[in-house]
Amino acid sequence: MKVDFNKFSDGLAPAIIQDAVDQQVLMLGYMNEEALKKTLTESRVTFYSRSKKRPWTKGETSGNYLGLDSIKVDCDEDAILIKVKPTGLVCHKGTQTCFGNKTSLGFLYQLEETIAKRIDGDDPNSYTNTLYKRGINKVAQKVGEEAVELVIEAKDDNAELFKNEAADLLYHFLILLKAKGFKLQEIEAILKERDSKK
Ligand code: AMP
Ligand code: ZN
Ligand code: ZN
Ligand code: ZN
Repeated sequence: MKVDFNKFSDGLAPAIIQDAVDQQVLMLGYMNEEALKKTLTESRVTFYSRSKKRPWTKGETSGNYLGLDSIKVDCDEDAILIKVKPTGLVCHKGTQTCFGNKTSLGFLYQLEETIAKRIDGDDPNSYTNTLYKRGINKVAQKVGEEAVELVIEAKDDNAELFKNEAADLLYHFLILLKAKGFKLQEIEAILKERDSKK
């Protein structure tokens, strides 16, 4: 990977920071050669801060680091795109990104978060929490039941029942993923990999 830092009179190339999981743009910073090297060796993002006038490891005081996932340089080698896994809030003003809080988190990811909250919480009125507590076999069995119900509805032509069983299956599938300790993103990665081979 080569960045043409000489293109800039101050030797600083813009670095766009993107979330590796949901692909949201998180912030923009600037890098010189030293900052880029440090980023690569430490696997967390270091910028060159124009206001501090020194290398700045994002998170050095707040602890909100940007863990390195991947780096790409653009077509003419004067812009850097960095995918990261952030620890905590990215913006020092208290939002998830420097452009405000995330808005277009895919709905399934939002549901995954809600399920995680129910499971990690301890509300006895939560169906999700109650099912989870009955153990992995029960959760898996529910997925099986919902799948069978969907198969039964597939043989009929009641659209509402079919769609509702499809929703039940998707919801219980997400509970099973969480109960097994996997993230939706890991499943998405497998499907994307397969899709890219076509
Ligand atoms: P941090 O690097 O997160 O420990 O924050 C140290 C200081 O860097 C903050 O007090 C801010 O001045 C600045 N800072 C942190 N995060 C950002 C950001 N996302 N954009 C601009 N400045 C930031
Ligand atoms: Zn360019
Ligand atoms: Zn900010
Ligand atoms: Zn059902």
